[in-house]
Amino acid sequence: MKEPIAVIGAGTMGRGIAQVFAQAGYQAFIYDAIPAAIETGVKDIHRMLDKGVEKGKLKPEDAAAAKERLRSVRSLSELKPCGLIVEAATEKLDVKIDVLRQAQKYLTADGILATNTSSISITQLAAATDHPERFVGMHFFNPVPLMQLVEVVRGLQTSDETVRRTIEFAKSVGKTPIECNDHPGFVSNRVLMPMINEAVFCLQEGVATAEAIDGIMKLGMNHPMGPLALADLIGLDVCLFIMEVLHRDLGEDRYRPCPLLRKYVQAGRLGRKSKHGFYKYE
Ligand code: NAD
Repeated sequence: MKEPIAVIGAGTMGRGIAQVFAQAGYQAFIYDAIPAAIETGVKDIHRMLDKGVEKGKLKPEDAAAAKERLRSVRSLSELKPCGLIVEAATEKLDVKIDVLRQAQKYLTADGILATNTSSISITQLAAATDHPERFVGMHFFNPVPLMQLVEVVRGLQTSDETVRRTIEFAKSVGKTPIECNDHPGFVSNRVLMPMINEAVFCLQEGVATAEAIDGIMKLGMNHPMGPLALADLIGLDVCLFIMEVLHRDLGEDRYRPCPLLRKYVQAGRLGRKSKHGFYKYE
């Protein structure tokens, strides 16, 4: 792809995605509705690139070139026609629909509009755009520069050509794309979140301590981190929200969120971001 790319949303995910695009040689625009988020986002990306240089993982000239290719915009109207726009804004249906409807005006004639949503229906978002056949899910994982996978999610209306080009693009930025169909939670959260939820049930029922549950899953299943520590990293509010989506949209009891998970969220124990979840953080 020769055209510029835009990332909308300069939060945790948008920053990582824009960094990866700029490092891979694309001109990458980054936009956020909150100007301060753009500033912090760009500073954060520069800091990550500098860290790469300090650690010897990145040549100084490559970091400088990536910084050069990264452009922040204060308004979408500053965008040049983009071959791809990736939306990574707040996980709310109305926010995403509004962002996508605005963003689609800045695509080239065959440009692709993608969303990084974790839980909202790709099919439903596609239906709100003018070209649902050129709409696709590009589900990146946190931290984006380190995580290999892009779950490429095909909505009901997504064309084969869009999927093919999205896969090709994801490979060009050094990621490993794997395709799946649009269904609540896609594959990643459909499998991961019930496992985390079950670990919380184990804790609630006194089957074992948090440390023991995580230790068993790490050493016995060869997982790099236990499910409760992972939930703290993701955010307990995010885990609860995704379980609620699975429960609502798949309609089965087995997806009911564990009451202890809900209680922690109600108490403001959200995991690492609030310094207290299943574990305490300094
Ligand atoms: P975040 O809260 O860190 O960032 C979201 C950003 O979107 C904020 O800076 C906010 O100001 C901005 N925003 C809100 N409304 C906007 C608008 N109308 N226009 C432009 N920007 C707007 O959230 P995040 O963790 O980066 O998540 C972003 C998306 O990525 C969500 O859809 C989330 O489900 C998905 N996701 C998150 C993770 C994760 O681990 N954090 C992993 C995979 C996917």
